[in-house]
Amino acid sequence: MPQSHSNKKPVEHTPMSQFKSDGQQLLVNGKQLRELKSRAGKTPFYAYDRSIIENNINHFRSSMPSRLGLHYAIKANPMPALVDFISPLVDGLDVASGLELNVALNSGKSASAISFAGPGKNLSELEMAVATGATINIESTTELERLNQLSETIGKPANIAVRVNPDFELKSSGMKMGGGSQQFGIDAEQVPDVLNAIKSSEHYYKGLHIFTGSQNLNADSIKVAHENIFALAVRLQRDAQMPIQCLNIGGGLGIPYFPGEKPLQLNEIADALELHLDSFYQEFGDTHIAMELGRYLVGNAGIYVCEVTDIKESRGTRFAIVNGGLHHHLSASGNFGQVIRKNYPVAIGNKMDKPNAGPLQIVGPLCTPLDIMANKYDLPDTDIGDLVVIYQSGAYGFTASPRDFLSHPQPVEMLV
Ligand SMILES: *Cc1c(COP(=O)(O)O)cnc(C)c1O
Repeated sequence: MPQSHSNKKPVEHTPMSQFKSDGQQLLVNGKQLRELKSRAGKTPFYAYDRSIIENNINHFRSSMPSRLGLHYAIKANPMPALVDFISPLVDGLDVASGLELNVALNSGKSASAISFAGPGKNLSELEMAVATGATINIESTTELERLNQLSETIGKPANIAVRVNPDFELKSSGMKMGGGSQQFGIDAEQVPDVLNAIKSSEHYYKGLHIFTGSQNLNADSIKVAHENIFALAVRLQRDAQMPIQCLNIGGGLGIPYFPGEKPLQLNEIADALELHLDSFYQEFGDTHIAMELGRYLVGNAGIYVCEVTDIKESRGTRFAIVNGGLHHHLSASGNFGQVIRKNYPVAIGNKMDKPNAGPLQIVGPLCTPLDIMANKYDLPDTDIGDLVVIYQSGAYGFTASPRDFLSHPQPVEMLV
């Protein structure tokens, strides 16, 4: 049966070239989608492609200054096998909870290469960090007091870095996490006092952490942010009168999700960064200066795959109902920080060679109108049993979704 065309024009989307196909079937690290479905034993599933992650890391290494360290921010995708894979390829792991710290340690990374940020770390999380020797990026003076007490109890000083809430904002960031009043970090103007308190304590001072925001695709605004970050770090460190070992300049490198978005060109930010690094080393000596990246390393390496369970037409609009939805992939549904809902890039993964036949509404099984996986998306003629692929799903997918909402079965995760 030919697919009916609604009168609404389909919207454009960002082409995805990181995954190949063998004609019909989408390939994940050389494996056909139907083979992956058999491996998963069911749909829906997430599949993460090792070769794409490795390419992303190699691309960063070859484009950025050679002395710039690369950390992986685990919260983007904490799947243990994936963290184990990335761990030896990066210089550090950044965690945001006690369980993430455990995943990082399980990967074999030395605690000295792990740092722990996040407002509201609880006492047992702080104890885990002190006992293991991970660096704690403190985000309040209360946290410092708790560390004083804990260190006394455990009999071991803490490795402390100060997370600074900068006195500037990152422009064009999808999610601002620094500047103005914030729950994150310690305001830059309070940092000198905190550094003094660390100096007069038993703890080891590791350095500074300045994270301004996430999902930035604008090279110019990232350059401005780097300028501001280094100016602030230099100003604070001149006052510190303790040597600095690590400077974490945050990350925030974005990836294209939506129509019209273009991949970031790293070479546009690399040269200015090199100059910042050089002058920082000159003034403060050998320092581990690193960026912490989550989605930039893993986002484009993952797909979410669900299966069409029903096709129906309602007053001129054609619907494909799938067995996955916002409960598995909140961000693709548009309900994770988006103001206006936009489509993630989508394909029918078992019909990669078929021409588009018109706009389709792809919706999940949940009883809520928010459960939309694709809106008016131009796709090949689609049938029950077809596999809907949602690209750019390697970060903030599985663990960023309310998987118990409506008590549907859980998706499988696979590293391929
Ligand atoms: C979330 C987070 C990151 C990772 O952000 P991405 O946009 O995934 O790169 C890095 N650092 C901190 C402190 C974070 O909270």
